[in-house]
Amino acid sequence: METPLPGHADVVIIGAGIAGITTAWYLNKAGLQIVVCEKGIVAGEQSSRNWGWIRQQGRDEAELPIVMESMRLWQEISDELDSDIGYRREGSLYLCENEEELARHDQFLALASAYGLETRQINRKQLEALIVDCPGRWPAALHTPDDGRAEPGLAVPAMAKTCESRGVTILQNCAVEQISVANGRVDGVFTEQGLIKCPAVLCSAGAWSTFLLKACGIGLPQLTVKASVARTAWAPLFFNGNAAGSQIAFRRRLDGGYTVAATDSLEIMPSIHHLRYLLDFLPLIKSSLGKLKLRIPELQVDSNYTRHRILNPVPSRATVKRIHARLSDRLPVFRHIELIESWSGMIDALPDLVPVLDRADSIEGLWIATGFSGHGFGIGPAAGKIMSQLIQNNAVEYDLSRFRLSRFSDGSPMVLGPSI
Ligand SMILES: Cc1cc2nc3c(=O)[nH]c(=O)nc-3n(C[C@H](O)[C@H](O)[C@H](O)COP(=O)(O)OP(=O)(O)OC[C@H]3O[C@@H](n4cnc5c(N)ncnc54)[C@H](O)[C@@H]3O)c2cc1C
Repeated sequence: METPLPGHADVVIIGAGIAGITTAWYLNKAGLQIVVCEKGIVAGEQSSRNWGWIRQQGRDEAELPIVMESMRLWQEISDELDSDIGYRREGSLYLCENEEELARHDQFLALASAYGLETRQINRKQLEALIVDCPGRWPAALHTPDDGRAEPGLAVPAMAKTCESRGVTILQNCAVEQISVANGRVDGVFTEQGLIKCPAVLCSAGAWSTFLLKACGIGLPQLTVKASVARTAWAPLFFNGNAAGSQIAFRRRLDGGYTVAATDSLEIMPSIHHLRYLLDFLPLIKSSLGKLKLRIPELQVDSNYTRHRILNPVPSRATVKRIHARLSDRLPVFRHIELIESWSGMIDALPDLVPVLDRADSIEGLWIATGFSGHGFGIGPAAGKIMSQLIQNNAVEYDLSRFRLSRFSDGSPMVLGPSI
């Protein structure tokens, strides 16, 4: 049965990905009436399509204390759910084929030590103790033993179900067509099913946020970047965590397979709207030459929110073939394991690769949590908690200046985050 449209809410959240649902989780705990509007299904886009890494390793310094808190929140949330979402802390590895690759992680190593993380460099012998039958192609790695993983296909849907059982209204197949603003402040949202009045709105619409904000006169430079992923059939357990090298990545799954991907192939899919922001992205494109390829978009991402209720781009066949060949080349165990499914997701990249967690200065009651640039799953619970505090006008203990919206318009120099 369709949930009837409520006429009013304390806060309307646009988008039922990890940012929207975790914010709903904490606002509900604070006793607020929350409505989440989702144009498709819960976690239909990035939040169910990602690799499932919950990593502290390799983070931007401003994200680091937040993601460290997120690790604790993942455990807390998991404990409150009625199903296993696969949250495990089995570590992350950045596999290095040579000294040069290892040296690229020096900066993070120093940061990790300053923040009290257990990250360390390990040698081939130590690596062989973590990856069974590792053929020795990687002489060294960066290792954070208490990084985590969870199942993207299970995590946000389970959180949403618990939110609903606690009184959060989640409207699926209900696109917000416009945020309603009167006299400089939010007073509701126009959905495809009618108006919901509310004094506060969170825009956590992933790849679509830039269009919702544009209609409010707010510029958010955002690009849509397609990433292709695959999963293997059940495989013997040879490594239990997350691992990535300069060409491939693999992560143990709860179902006994591995989620696998290429680490050097992403496809930029700009619409005319996105092209306006291409200049903002030049530093990123320059720093990722070879990894980011410009493509004619196969899907229209624009302000028609019902055309693609679920953004489901076709995975690149060439990338998937490459993933299998590279895995088989580096880890003999993969030679006999089939890739049984592939998919892709559209990353909502911002020019400096860190999200916006902020209010809109020009419109009272409008909040923004978006642009996680390919690493919002792990940090999601802490980002949701932060947004819930901000929306309630409570202080937060983190320095959020790096995540302010105005950095794209106030002449601040662009400081690129670690990587997409
Ligand atoms: C292939 C891939 C691999 C990744 N790997 C990792 C990883 O290992 N670790 C990690 O931390 N992160 C990873 N990420 C990034 C992570 O998945 C995202 O940063 C995170 O899921 C973003 O969550 P979100 O809630 O902001 O957006 P989304 O999950 O995209 O959710 C936004 C939602 O808003 C809805 N929506 C949009 N417009 C409207 C509207 N007008 N009305 C109503 N609803 C609307 C959409 O339908 C969507 O469901 C990966 C991403 C991809 C694509």
